[in-house]
Amino acid sequence: MMALVRQALRFALDPTSSQRRDLARHAGAARFAYNWGLEREQAALDARRAGDSTVPMPSAMGQHKEWNSWKKGKDGVPWWVEVSKCVPQEAFRDLERGMRAFWESRAGKRTGPRVHFPRFKKKGRCRDSFRLTGSIHLHDRAVTLPRIGTVRLLEDAARWVERIEEGCVRVTSATVSREADRWYVCLAVEAERAIPIRNGAGGTVGVDLGLLALATLSDGTVIPGPKALRRGLRQLRRLSRAHSRKTRGSRNRARAARRLARHHAKVAAIRRDHLHKLTTALAKTHGRIVVEDLNVKGMLGNRKLARVLSDSGFGEFRRQLSYKCRWYGSELVVADRWFPSSKTCSGCGTLKEELSLKERTYRCESCGLVLDRDLNAAINLAGWAHPAVTASAAETLTACGADRKPGPRLAGGCEAGTGIAPEPTGSIGGPQTRVAFVRV
Ligand SMILES: [Zn+2]
Repeated sequence: MMALVRQALRFALDPTSSQRRDLARHAGAARFAYNWGLEREQAALDARRAGDSTVPMPSAMGQHKEWNSWKKGKDGVPWWVEVSKCVPQEAFRDLERGMRAFWESRAGKRTGPRVHFPRFKKKGRCRDSFRLTGSIHLHDRAVTLPRIGTVRLLEDAARWVERIEEGCVRVTSATVSREADRWYVCLAVEAERAIPIRNGAGGTVGVDLGLLALATLSDGTVIPGPKALRRGLRQLRRLSRAHSRKTRGSRNRARAARRLARHHAKVAAIRRDHLHKLTTALAKTHGRIVVEDLNVKGMLGNRKLARVLSDSGFGEFRRQLSYKCRWYGSELVVADRWFPSSKTCSGCGTLKEELSLKERTYRCESCGLVLDRDLNAAINLAGWAHPAVTASAAETLTACGADRKPGPRLAGGCEAGTGIAPEPTGSIGGPQTRVAFVRV
């Protein structure tokens, strides 16, 4: 089956110093236009609050029209000739999106955290970025952007150039942004993609996201967080301490800030890369992937934990997984947020009333299951797709005589009282399964 999918291609740029100035000027123009538009939104809102309900809220199109006559006037900006006309237009579109999110959030028509009124962008305090539309051309080692011209890439884009020439991929816009001292271009493309018809082939896997390991799969695989990240965190602390010790406004402090920003960008890149590898592997090899609702952990009310959770890119994990599942024809299932995946025994279904975060091992009082906490949760998630089967998991619980091939055990050997934890869906696991428990 062929389908049109939206995708983003990101390349690091290698601009000349005059191009660098050009990029910075465009980012500055985008910021200026955004603030210009926001001022007008604010004024319209103030007028309406003062009782004049006839004042319309400006739209992106209206703002752009007004901008075009304003920029040439006596209060206007002389630099408008130097930047692409797309830049303010796209900034107004961003603003419109932000305003819509704000109104919808206020009206309760939007899920997720409350969206605040858009804020003014301050130089150095916001991300330098701008978006261009129109004629954008990708070459093997360069990209041609309207107004800016041809900028070299630090990476090879030949693979994509070929697909664009074949007509399978169409570039719709380019977002240019800066991270620390490096510029990137992110091309939004529409691509023809062959979606395999899978019908659940590859079986079901439950994924428990954690703090110690990045993810634990119901088949026993543990995916550690990237090592470079842990090392990176130590260095991050060192660099941020060094930064805060320098005198405010000093040249040393500016240098330390640059070093810190570069490090942040590097750590973010490592994390992104690691997540991409994990989500691609999951979506490619499984027919159905069950993950927990992220709010579950957020709801624990532990502030320190909440911060770590938002830092570890779980939201990004879900986002990547959801589009990759579409690409590879697999199904992403999000377990109900009230599903107690950690507190339920994956062996007999007994629910524990209390399970503190410190307890790394799940011990069931009823059936004697002893299992790594995260693995227990992952198995429960895998079973969540078929709740009826999970309910009868106790009956399918078998000891050594089971007609399945157990892999290496986590605990105990194949003696009396040792069994293989059930596979609630009957499809997870396989020869590599490392699921085992000990009856106490
Ligand atoms: Zn149990």
